[in-house]
Amino acid sequence: MLAKKTLYLIIALILLSPLAYYSAGIGQQARALSQEPLIADDGSLQSSPKAVALHKLTLPMRIERMLLYPALLMLLQFSGAALWFRGWLERRWLPNLERAPGFSALDRWLLRFTRKRFSLGEATVILLYIALFALGIRLLYLPFSLYSFVLRHQFDLSTQGFFAWQRDFWLGWGIALLTALLGYGVFYALLKISPRRWPVWTGLVFTVFTIGYVLLEPLLITPLFYEITPVADPALRQRIKTMTDQAGVNIDEIYVIDASSKTNAVNACFTGFGGASKIFLWDTLLNKHSPDEVDVVIAHEMGHWVHKHVLIGLLGSIAFTWIGLFALRWWLNRVWQKLGWRGPFDVAGYPCLLGMMSIVGILTMPLFNGISRYAENQADDFALAISQKPEAAAVMFEGFARENLSLVHIPAWEKIIFSTHPPLNERIAKAEKAMNNE
Ligand SMILES: [Zn+2]
Repeated sequence: MLAKKTLYLIIALILLSPLAYYSAGIGQQARALSQEPLIADDGSLQSSPKAVALHKLTLPMRIERMLLYPALLMLLQFSGAALWFRGWLERRWLPNLERAPGFSALDRWLLRFTRKRFSLGEATVILLYIALFALGIRLLYLPFSLYSFVLRHQFDLSTQGFFAWQRDFWLGWGIALLTALLGYGVFYALLKISPRRWPVWTGLVFTVFTIGYVLLEPLLITPLFYEITPVADPALRQRIKTMTDQAGVNIDEIYVIDASSKTNAVNACFTGFGGASKIFLWDTLLNKHSPDEVDVVIAHEMGHWVHKHVLIGLLGSIAFTWIGLFALRWWLNRVWQKLGWRGPFDVAGYPCLLGMMSIVGILTMPLFNGISRYAENQADDFALAISQKPEAAAVMFEGFARENLSLVHIPAWEKIIFSTHPPLNERIAKAEKAMNNE
């Protein structure tokens, strides 16, 4: 009973909290605030009033999401809602679907293929569970997403209209849904078909899928959201070629992404492995920054490539997943009976499984963000060494404070938990040190 009441409370909080953030009135006054970083008496850079105001809203939003989402998932388990939902699908939906033409023929085939371990009925319930659950979560968080859209406009971070945003929002959800159906569908099927060795099979499938995703994502998914064109400017191409030759990097192609159709923020990235890689530059970067500053950003991205950060990150996440799968088998075998599931393979445990993964994700966040900040430091060092433009680097970091409304100083606890990049004051100090060494 207590679990049920707490569940209702959490649902109400998720639905209503955006109203509280809006009513705080901070966003409504944002347009009047300056986004120019301030200079303190000692000459050091300070966050702009606008960046400080934005942070006042985004920090509680971040913490709320971090705490309420796993709580919601766990309460769905302990209130009995997760079990009820599986039973409801079996009673209400399955009998109708079983009458569909071809169902029994396909069922016979699947049973023969899996040696009577996995039926089409089970598969159908699993896929319906995952899809409807994802839709429910999306709708529950819809006010939160709508508020984020409003917030980005209040702070002039977004240039996207409502309908264009809605298109991206649901397209992104569709891709996430397909990935979840494929990933968790295969996971639950393997749990049922191979009750003992499923972590090995799941690990293998995950490994192939992740490598394929990293290679294909820029070719298949990015173009669904952005227009991508090869860089035409011969001067920019030449500058990039000089730097990549110097660093011994082979570049396949350099592209511009039309990010300005959606955002005012600035970014760039490097993708691919081995002999061929691609560079993607946000057009906002090219429009707002001097050639020297653009060079620093490209050199930073090259630093990631030279230090093999993408490859190491990929191998690291594969290793982490393999360990996680064996830990998951240990955990599932111990808890399924106590939680009222039919077995470790019961899809009624899906919310609880997501909740556990979310909790592990939160607990390991300081570790992974620490690794990320270390890698970003390496890329900054590389950028300063290869471009030899520390003044431009310092100007560029100030640009992040202005255009991305990033804070210049971040409290230590917040940096440890949330920051994937070193705070701007540290990055600027590094560039200034390089200037003095010249
Ligand atoms: Zn970076």
